[in-house]
Amino acid sequence: MISLKACKTCNTITEANKCPRCNGEVSREWQGYLIVIDPEKSEIARKIGIHASGRYALRVK
Ligand SMILES: [Zn+2]
Repeated sequence: MISLKACKTCNTITEANKCPRCNGEVSREWQGYLIVIDPEKSEIARKIGIHASGRYALRVK
């Protein structure tokens, strides 16, 4: 099983050791898997501050 990590800055979920979106630090301790297809229409995406489609974590420790 691939261990997924989430960016501490922008919540992007990634398999890499650095965030591919913002080059930020990633953490293995995250909760809530969120797939954003249309960030303009997603209330959750707006709340977290997501402006691009992709896979995100709801909470990152
Ligand atoms: Zn990031």
